[in-house]
Amino acid sequence: SEWIDKADKHVMKTYGRYPIVAQRGEGCRLWDVEGRVYLDFLAGVAVNNLGHCHPKVVAALREQAGRLLHCSNFYHIPQQIELAEWLCEHSFADSVFFCNSGAEANEAAMKLARKHSREKYGENRFEVITALASFHGRTIATISATGQEKVKAGFSPMLNGFKHVPFGDLEAMRQMVTPNVCAIMLEPIQGEGGVNVPLPGYLKAVRDLCDEFDLLLIYDEVQVGCGRTGTLWAYEHEEVPPDIMTLAKALAGGPPIGAMLTTTSLAERLGPGTHGSTFGGNPLVCAAALAAMQTITDDGILDNCRTMGEYLTGELERLQGKYAFIKEIRGRGLIIGMELTIEGGPLVNAAMERGLLINCTVGKVLRFVPPLIVSRAEIDEAVTILDEVMATIDTTGHAG
Ligand code: PLP
Repeated sequence: SEWIDKADKHVMKTYGRYPIVAQRGEGCRLWDVEGRVYLDFLAGVAVNNLGHCHPKVVAALREQAGRLLHCSNFYHIPQQIELAEWLCEHSFADSVFFCNSGAEANEAAMKLARKHSREKYGENRFEVITALASFHGRTIATISATGQEKVKAGFSPMLNGFKHVPFGDLEAMRQMVTPNVCAIMLEPIQGEGGVNVPLPGYLKAVRDLCDEFDLLLIYDEVQVGCGRTGTLWAYEHEEVPPDIMTLAKALAGGPPIGAMLTTTSLAERLGPGTHGSTFGGNPLVCAAALAAMQTITDDGILDNCRTMGEYLTGELERLQGKYAFIKEIRGRGLIIGMELTIEGGPLVNAAMERGLLINCTVGKVLRFVPPLIVSRAEIDEAVTILDEVMATIDTTGHAG
């Protein structure tokens, strides 16, 4: 189309984009400029947890847009204060730093970990242990932290001070702890790495390890926070709070936001002038986030996420019984991975042609992250499309 021709000329090709030009969204549906409608089980990669254009988020944005769009962080803003207060009342944290993305939230977390450790232990204790198959963002620091070679290719040298261990392997983690380590950073469930859920007890054991060596535990809940797993924060499943938690994606129900949450004593390490962001925590996005978070906790969204998560998992397991190329279904709440023995790309394309948006991570894992408001009927529709697509797969893995 005309749009795609123009994009080819002027928009950098940093994404392998699908040939859809999106125009409008409502609930779990996305319309393109040609009027085609899609059932959106990708939800902006776990951003649209309340679906597209949730009326309460839209109303909060509209109201705030006419009052104040931006002022500087040199001044206080009621919306930012209220959001910080809400987040602290609903988590382990006492204090929040606002930014604009997940990568920035992780940058803030790593700066805080370094500064805390330097002030407490001196200058050589700055290393952070992260997991293989993790994903923490696209800046130089966050690709250094990320445990996947593909995001680093071409950008070396990486920053000093990151060590990676297999996710879920406690013994490997323990062996990696030296006097130079200041923190362990983990996603409670790995999203981009293929929806990897650790065994029960793993996060608790990592917490104990951190306590033993006075390391900071950082949870990257950018993808799995904000209700995605059926509780507000993923760490609640094991009741082991971190020292620092990073959020972004679904926090404002669509608009860009990032946040780093921590305790009072750690927050004191980042005094005036140590860190900042021009747009971080601006009135518009904070008004949206407050509306989005209140909706998630007050409107039965978490219950729906758990119920629909179980239902979708059950339906995907039914397909597993039918198709030998489905190896495993795993996840929690409404982040569900379906590991295949074949490449997932052709299935994603074929599903899209039939009106279902999903994606594939690490080559062979189909990822389902629908809005948390998804209904049983919408799940049935999605599973029917998937079943149709899978029925056309020949043993070489080509969708017909
Ligand atoms: N951390 C995790 C766990 C993520 O899934 C992502 C994005 O997918 C990021 C960090 C980076 O977030 P952003 O793209 O907002 O910088």
